[in-house]
Amino acid sequence: MRLDLRDIIQIPGESVGFDYETDLSDCADPPIKEIVGPAKVSGSIRNVAGVLTLTAQLDLDAVFVCDRCLREETRHIHRDINATLADNAQDSEDPEMFPLYGNFADIDEIVVTAFLLNAEESWLCREDCKGLCPQCGADLNDGPCSCTKEIDPRLAVLGQFLEK
Ligand SMILES: [Zn+2]
Ligand SMILES: [Zn+2]
Repeated sequence: MRLDLRDIIQIPGESVGFDYETDLSDCADPPIKEIVGPAKVSGSIRNVAGVLTLTAQLDLDAVFVCDRCLREETRHIHRDINATLADNAQDSEDPEMFPLYGNFADIDEIVVTAFLLNAEESWLCREDCKGLCPQCGADLNDGPCSCTKEIDPRLAVLGQFLEK
């Protein structure tokens, strides 16, 4: 969404709000499998002593896939986004600096960048997820599979002894 800042750009203390829904389905990178429905974006841009400052909240639901057992779970994501808008933002290395396009701000660009920059790199359905058996693929959270009854090497030696 392009937000018109003409009414605040020259007037310290003024602000303009926004509240809309946007499509972030292209932002589904692992461990997120899918973004469910539209993302809600709300917030405002305020002229703070001549500096255009954005604060926003992003809310969406996403399907996460567990790193270990591949179990899927839909979870809510809430993010607080802070950004500064400036004509020369391209020259800045500050990840919270974003460009102005004339008198406009590109809110989607800010939301997508903030979302991807702070994305989780992995997710576990629970901290002690036991994962899948590497041999039979069974979900070990549901209990041990038949391959886990592997013989203790010390007992194996005893077995050989008994066979003789
Ligand atoms: Zn898991
Ligand atoms: Zn197994």
